[in-house]
Amino acid sequence: MKEKIVIANRGEIALRILRACHELGIGTVAVHSEVDRNLKHVRLADETVCIGPAPSIDSYLQIPAIISAAEVTDAVAIHPGYGFLSENADFAERVENSGFTFIGPKPETIRTMGDKIKAIEMMKKAGVPCVPGSDGPLNKNNKQTLNIARKIGYPVIIKASGGGGGRGMRVVHSEATLLNAISLTKAEAGAAFGNDEVYMEKFLETPRHVEFQVLADQHGNAIHLGERDCSMQRRHQKVVEEAPAPGITEALRKKMGDRCAEACRTIGYRGAGTFEFLYEDGEFYFIEMNTRVQVEHPVTEMVTGVDIIKEQILISAGEKLRYKQEDIQIRGHAIECRINAEDPSNFMPCPGTITQFHPAGGPGIRLDTHIYNGYTVPQYYDSMIGKLIAHGSDREAALARMNTALSEMVIDGIKTNIPLQCDIISDEGFKAGGVNIHYLEKKLGMQQP
Ligand code: ADP
Repeated sequence: MKEKIVIANRGEIALRILRACHELGIGTVAVHSEVDRNLKHVRLADETVCIGPAPSIDSYLQIPAIISAAEVTDAVAIHPGYGFLSENADFAERVENSGFTFIGPKPETIRTMGDKIKAIEMMKKAGVPCVPGSDGPLNKNNKQTLNIARKIGYPVIIKASGGGGGRGMRVVHSEATLLNAISLTKAEAGAAFGNDEVYMEKFLETPRHVEFQVLADQHGNAIHLGERDCSMQRRHQKVVEEAPAPGITEALRKKMGDRCAEACRTIGYRGAGTFEFLYEDGEFYFIEMNTRVQVEHPVTEMVTGVDIIKEQILISAGEKLRYKQEDIQIRGHAIECRINAEDPSNFMPCPGTITQFHPAGGPGIRLDTHIYNGYTVPQYYDSMIGKLIAHGSDREAALARMNTALSEMVIDGIKTNIPLQCDIISDEGFKAGGVNIHYLEKKLGMQQP
């Protein structure tokens, strides 16, 4: 392959994509904002194009600027990474209409999965288990709505079809407040997402977040790479992720994974994707599909040996999947700690210049980060500055390695959440495995409803 890819992202994931391109012998174009000239991948890319001022809205979200960068550099494809434009169907469409390959699913798949009601409908048809709920959007018939809730049983959750990032949801504990909660959620959803459709689901009280990674090519082949447990969350933001999920048996993994892969074939999915589930009392309930690579993909890479980014690139070039399901073996256990530039006492972002950086290392340790001595973390973007991943022969070994690695990491000049991560890794509940999605907030004293 003698081609060139535009990396339409920044930070650690841009560097990760650049490394995959280098290994495949593919040229790289880094598009960056004015404050990101000194990002590591920008320094290492074959070509660079400045696409605008620091705020994302003026640079990383500027569709015409990114497409022009592909045009002037004669690139063939655009990798969107995660966040920014990665799940923007209009972007994917404009990329393809301009004659470039979008490294991701078809625009129409992104569009469908971005509409939660349509996504759930499609998943039900494809045999993926969903949360008991209203069949489609709630209508104006209040009697019918009250009946749906009675049938599901309280508490229920009202969710906006166009919602995302944990917004557009409201939990209802009794019939008295149901109709009012629906009108409030509808009004908010209309204003925030331009779509006031809402639906109802059973509210699961103590679920875990367990998700399945899939890969599908353009020739009808699809496989799953097992699951990840991402229950350690604060404000719906994942903080620690691991693979495999504690307590999931080989038989259950196979059953659910095969269903996800089958769903990919049914819907004509293309590329890497993730089926997110809530997992409670031994049952899986689909909540959404992410149509892009995820932050936590490295834990899956560590236990399967599959390079997900390389596979994304090869699939987008029209190649057949290089793996069959039986080639995928889960080996050992991997844990990822997200490293954020933030004050561990109040979670406020903490941009600034890194005066000293000593990365962790040793067997089984992987550090995906773009930071270096003297690098300035800008104030404009997400506070995640890296991901520390520990792989071991089993969960205990991975935990021990993570502990050592965290204790070795030095990042001076800015505050980071490393102290919080140390605390989580040595927490008895976490060590036992299988905590639910409210665990971290309870631990931090942020009471749940
Ligand atoms: P978003 O697209 O905003 O991330 P999701 O549908 O993925 O929305 O839900 C985000 C989070 O909200 C979930 O990770 C979970 O914590 C909570 N949640 C969503 N649906 C339910 C439900 N039916 N029961 C309990 N919690 C839920």
